[in-house]
Amino acid sequence: MSPASRKIRLIMELRRNGLTDTRVLGTMELMPREVFAPESFRDQAYENATLPIGCHQTLSAPIVVGLMTQALELGERMKVLEIGTGSGYQAAILSRLCRRVYTIERYRDLLKEAERRFAKLGITNITSKVGDGTLGWREQAPFERIIVTAAATDVPPVLAGQLAVGGVMLVPIDDGAGDPRLLRVRRSERGLDTEDLGEMRFVPLVPDTAPE
Ligand code: SAH
Repeated sequence: MSPASRKIRLIMELRRNGLTDTRVLGTMELMPREVFAPESFRDQAYENATLPIGCHQTLSAPIVVGLMTQALELGERMKVLEIGTGSGYQAAILSRLCRRVYTIERYRDLLKEAERRFAKLGITNITSKVGDGTLGWREQAPFERIIVTAAATDVPPVLAGQLAVGGVMLVPIDDGAGDPRLLRVRRSERGLDTEDLGEMRFVPLVPDTAPE
């Protein structure tokens, strides 16, 4: 099967699985996922599958990236914080749908690779740093949207504090007790409202930065 027809097959699969936002679908169709996959997995870039990216981390499956991006309800003027840059694929998708993306990764090696990919694709509205994402990015707060791409045991309070009023945060929760869930947290004048968007599995969010 040619790369173009694999891509069409993937987009159809995403539609069948609940991805209906045409801006998100269009962005995913245009973004070359093979750039974010390791060399030996390039031929699987348009499979709806998780791929290994080194440091025991993963590039999330396209359906996960798509549904999370859709659930984030992005506007093109928004400032977005992502925790867990990984390969950079999710950040690259976000960068096409909002004004600026701030992204934090605990592994320096993964972040360097992701930055190289952003440069290669001519993406200039992503600012990234190595650090512990559970602490957020105080100098740039508040954020209209926050997306955590690793599972926390509970909603990280510092991140909730960096969410603007009217803002939305997506955070996968895996407390070991039940199935891992994806939560959508909205900040209103009154406080935080939490919605359960269903089961979703991620690598764990590890507080603290990785050793050099
Ligand atoms: N968004 C990524 C998928 C990332 S997997 C992509 O599109 O490829 C989750 C990532 O979160 C991993 O790279 C992991 O190293 C990172 N991570 C885990 N805990 C973290 C923390 N406390 N701060 C920052 N990054 C963290």
